[in-house]
Amino acid sequence: MAQQYDFRQDQHLVLNGSARARIILPPWTPQGRRHVEALYIVKMGDAMDLGLKGKAAVVTASSRGIGRAAAEAFAVEGARISMCARTAADVTQAAETIRARTGAQVLALRADLTQAGDIQELVRRTVEAYGTVDILVNNAGGPPAGTFDDMTDAEWQAAFELTLLSTVRLVRAVIPHMRRAGGGAIINLQSTSVKVPLDNLILSNSIRTGVIGLAKSLSIELAKDNIRVNNVLPGAIMTDRQRQMLALQSKKSGQTVEEVRRLRESKIPLGRFGEPEDLADMIVFLASDRAKYITGVTVQVDGGLARSLM
Ligand code: NAD
Repeated sequence: MAQQYDFRQDQHLVLNGSARARIILPPWTPQGRRHVEALYIVKMGDAMDLGLKGKAAVVTASSRGIGRAAAEAFAVEGARISMCARTAADVTQAAETIRARTGAQVLALRADLTQAGDIQELVRRTVEAYGTVDILVNNAGGPPAGTFDDMTDAEWQAAFELTLLSTVRLVRAVIPHMRRAGGGAIINLQSTSVKVPLDNLILSNSIRTGVIGLAKSLSIELAKDNIRVNNVLPGAIMTDRQRQMLALQSKKSGQTVEEVRRLRESKIPLGRFGEPEDLADMIVFLASDRAKYITGVTVQVDGGLARSLM
C-alpha cells in the first residue's frame, strides 16, 4: 500500500529514479520494507542504476509467489515484462496490478510450462510485442512431495517435464533472440534442496540438480554470445505454498500455526521466513548490468538456512 514517507530525511534508501519511485526501506527500520509513491525524481550519488530500463524480461509462473514478485521488481526497474501462468484470469489480474503500480508495459499470457507449444507461443508473443527477449526467469511450481517408495514412473516423468524440460525448452526458444541482441541473462529459480537435500522431497532433490548442471554447461557454451546463466535458490519463503504447509503441519502436530511458524523460524539463522521480494532483489541484480561478470553461479537466498559450505 502506498504510504507517505519523508525520504529526503533518510540516508538509507535504495531507490530507483523514476517519476513514481519505489523506495525500499532497510529491514532494520521499525516498519521494515514498504512501498512509497514519490512524485519527483531524487538523485543520490551512490544510487545503483541496474541498466534494466526498456529491457524485455520473460518471467514464468508469475501470477503469484516469487515469480510475481520478480515480475514486479523488473517492472519497477523500467523493464518491459511478459508474465505467464496456467490460468489466464490469475495472470491477467496480477499484470493489471503491476501495471497500475509501476506504469510498466506488461504482457499477460496463459501458458502451461509442461506444454512445448505454450512455451513457443509465450516467447513468440513476447518477441512480437517487444522485439526481443533480453532476460528469462525460469520458474515453475515445485514437484510433489514424497519419498522414493511413493513415486511412480508417471510422477518422475511429470517432474522431469515441469522442472527440467520446461527450462530446456524456454532456453532453446529465447537464445536466438538473445544472440541477435548481443547478449542476455537467464536465471533459474530452483531450491536449496540442490545443496542440502530435503526430507520427503525425492523428486525435487533429484531433478532440480539437473537444472543446475544444465545451467553450468549453458553458462560455458553461451558465454561467447554474452548470455549469462545463473541459479537462485529460495530457502523458506513466505508464499501461499508455505502458508499451506504451516497449516498442514499445525493440523498434524496439534500446535497452533503461530507455534509451528516460530519453530521453523528458530532454525533459520536470520530468524525469519524470507519474503518473495528478497528473492526478487537477487534475481533482478543477476539480470542486470551490475552482474555483467557473473555467470554459472548458484546463489541461495535463505537467511542462512542451508548448512552447506558451497
Ligand atoms: P508458488 O507455488 O507460490 O508459485 C508457483 C507458481 O507456479 C504458481 O503460480 C503455479 O500456478 C505455477 N505453476 C505450477 N505449475 C505450472 C505449470 N505447469 N505451468 C505454469 N505455471 C505453473 O511457488 P513459490 O513459493 O513462488 O516458489 C517458486 C519456485 O521456488 C517453485 O519451484 C518452488 O517449488 C520453489 N521453492 C519455493 C520455496 C518457498 O519457500 N516458497 C522454497 C524452495 C523452493
